[in-house]
Amino acid sequence: MHSQNPIFIPGPTNMPEDLRRAVDIPTIDHRSPEFGKILHPALDGVKQVLKSRDAQIFLFPSTGTGGWETAITNTLSPGDKVLAARNGMFSHRWIDMCQRHNLDVTIIETPWGEGIPAARMEEILTADKGHEIRVVLATHNETATGVKSDIAAVRRALDAAGHPALLFVDGVSSIGSMDFRMDEWGVDIAVTGSQKGFMLPPGLAIVGFSPKAMAAIESARLPRTFFDIRDMATGYARNGYPYTPPVGLINGLYHSTQRLLAEGIENVFARHHRIASGVRAAVDAWGMQLCALRPELYSDSVSAIRVPEGFDANQFVSIALEKYGIAFGTGLGEVAGKVWRIGHLGSLTDAMALSGLSVAEMVMADMGMAVKPGSGVAAAQEVYRQSAATLAQKAA
Ligand SMILES: *Cc1c(COP(=O)(O)O)cnc(C)c1O
Repeated sequence: MHSQNPIFIPGPTNMPEDLRRAVDIPTIDHRSPEFGKILHPALDGVKQVLKSRDAQIFLFPSTGTGGWETAITNTLSPGDKVLAARNGMFSHRWIDMCQRHNLDVTIIETPWGEGIPAARMEEILTADKGHEIRVVLATHNETATGVKSDIAAVRRALDAAGHPALLFVDGVSSIGSMDFRMDEWGVDIAVTGSQKGFMLPPGLAIVGFSPKAMAAIESARLPRTFFDIRDMATGYARNGYPYTPPVGLINGLYHSTQRLLAEGIENVFARHHRIASGVRAAVDAWGMQLCALRPELYSDSVSAIRVPEGFDANQFVSIALEKYGIAFGTGLGEVAGKVWRIGHLGSLTDAMALSGLSVAEMVMADMGMAVKPGSGVAAAQEVYRQSAATLAQKAA
């Protein structure tokens, strides 16, 4: 029966029935025009979700991490300089990947719980008179800490410094659930995967390349074969792939983009904000702290919640899973054991969120935390009552 429970890890997310069915299609000949009828609408749907007019979209049988590798290997050469802030596990992994590819990473060490320090980036970019920094890497939503960074501010930092570096954004846990504007923010490569905001099984790396990023491909000397977007682009032009495409997932992606666009992308963001606000009201009522340090950093797709002194966050997650069949996320890296995470992205309603909060309260009582059962749920209920979705939104 526990399989009936919603999942509260910050990805993979709950899958709506229609998307599960869309992934489950009979085998087709992926070298026939039939495939093009699935592929091209999916690419177009992603472009709309990214709010881009000119981006070229590529879908690899991979995950978000493969999307990073696609971004790096198609645009850079060994020894190239890259600038990044490290403020959580995912930004850390992106830096680690660059280093393993022999890139020269300037790391801005940033407290976990903080966002990307755009002002510090501007100083470093301004000081780089020879424009040696080729790329700025930005993790839009640090899933490890529940911190949203201001990508528009990173773009302003580049512009204020008059610096031509490319801007690569990890939007794995923001795209399709939080405001993302590829063109307006001057994002050169946007990276995501199928299993978060798109509400699909894992298995697709989804990347968007701006014309400026496309122009960097020919001079890039990092080795790439599987992730070479030139082969992918050649394949797409012939309604095909350089290898066997995951046709079911791509069909799911088309339906996912249509689902998001039918709900209205701004309504999707508003729903995530409303649900997240309820979760934050609960955390407040429990007298607990988020890992994210200030309200403007609060993520609408995941909250990392600190356990009170003397308690083990991993034990919290274990009890929730073993006793109540509810999966929350554990803390990663520096905050392991100190925070537990509740993913509130993808296919989620107010009622589903309330069920997760109420189980969290049972676990708190089991562990002997000084929290009044019902207090967080009541606070979230109040948020949801005051901001109930309109009928039009509910219909989506
Ligand atoms: C989930 C996630 C990733 C990793 O994606 P995979 O699909 O697991 O490779 C990268 N960055 C962020 C911000 C994420 O949330």
